[in-house]
Amino acid sequence: MTLFRAAILNPIDVRSWQFLEDGGLLVMDGRIHALGRFDDLVKNYPWEPVNLDGVILPGFADIHIHWVQHAVRGRYAQALLPWLAAHIWPEEARYADTALAQQRAETFYDDCLTAGTVMGMSYSSPHPAAAHIAHAARRGDWITGNVVMTANAPADLMAASAKSPADLASLSEAIGRAHYAVTPRFALNCAADDLAALGTFARHEGLAVQTHLAESAAEVREVERLFPQALDYTDVYDAAGLLGPRTVLGHCLHLSQREWSCLKIRGCWIAHCPSSNEALDSGRFDLACARRHGVPFALASDVGAGPSHSMLHVMQRFRRQHQAASVRVDPEETLFRATIAGARAMGRGAVAGNLGVGKRGDFVLMPRGARLQSPQSWFEDLLDGTAAELERRALGTWISGQQIFVGGRPALPEPLMPC
Ligand SMILES: [Zn+2]
Repeated sequence: MTLFRAAILNPIDVRSWQFLEDGGLLVMDGRIHALGRFDDLVKNYPWEPVNLDGVILPGFADIHIHWVQHAVRGRYAQALLPWLAAHIWPEEARYADTALAQQRAETFYDDCLTAGTVMGMSYSSPHPAAAHIAHAARRGDWITGNVVMTANAPADLMAASAKSPADLASLSEAIGRAHYAVTPRFALNCAADDLAALGTFARHEGLAVQTHLAESAAEVREVERLFPQALDYTDVYDAAGLLGPRTVLGHCLHLSQREWSCLKIRGCWIAHCPSSNEALDSGRFDLACARRHGVPFALASDVGAGPSHSMLHVMQRFRRQHQAASVRVDPEETLFRATIAGARAMGRGAVAGNLGVGKRGDFVLMPRGARLQSPQSWFEDLLDGTAAELERRALGTWISGQQIFVGGRPALPEPLMPC
């Protein structure tokens, strides 16, 4: 049992968080046993505390990241379809090399933990061995899927794709159902029959599904051309039985009202990737529409289109992008979307996402900064900086109460205005 003493900021819901300037967090057997003001907590648990100089936040969840693109994150900026063909597919082809995959996987998880990300959903390359490696090397709680590509893709990637129910069953069995997602890359890379087979398999096995939906306007036009029988892009997946409460759809930038209604009815989650959308100039997520329809969403980096795996950077872009379009985004919602919402999208809402009693003791320590008396102001300072600075802002990361990353001593940038 360990009693941590620090300032604590704990997200509660879209509108609120709990701030404890002198807080206590008691972790027992990897789970949070108690949370409160330190003075109150120590009366019942009179242990010598571990004093942490900083602010505890729950660890971040990134529900859409291509771990096999991490090494080239932000390196190329082009429209989606030519970007995939010119840069990304050749990069993913390299993951046929298991030694490269092993080394890259270790770097990926190291970098995520350094940035404070303790859980997420990742896309692997088509090669089953690379998905195995990603799972075996994982640090934190991850759901991974081998992307399935059966059409309109390089021959080597299509040949490497595990796509038959038997192949996918053995892969999901080996990885474990709680950590495996059926992952068609997107409609343009799968024939209708293959999508339907994947949908049947996912439903039968009760597995998570992840794919991309309506990321760019050119992609939507191409889907309309290749699937003339469908009502729209969303209907391509719906007809294949791929939409349900365990489905996480990346982007969703170019949807009709019918499609928004369909996602709501099916109970799907959206992975909103603001930094990626900026990088590929794909468009802006219709935040007001998502709120109006009540479609649940969480934030994600979408590395390697997204230039950084830092969820601080993703939160920064989330706030600034929508505020520039005069859509209100409060700090409380921003933190909620990078923590609790992501855990819920993964089906982990009961065991992770914030510092609730009974949940895993997964948390990150951030610098205190000059404006801690106002948590909203402190949070704004926390998100200020370049992607490279934000990737290294955390002072430490804990999983199940064990410190697994020890950072340096970066300070927050000085606020421009005195508080
Ligand atoms: Zn993606």
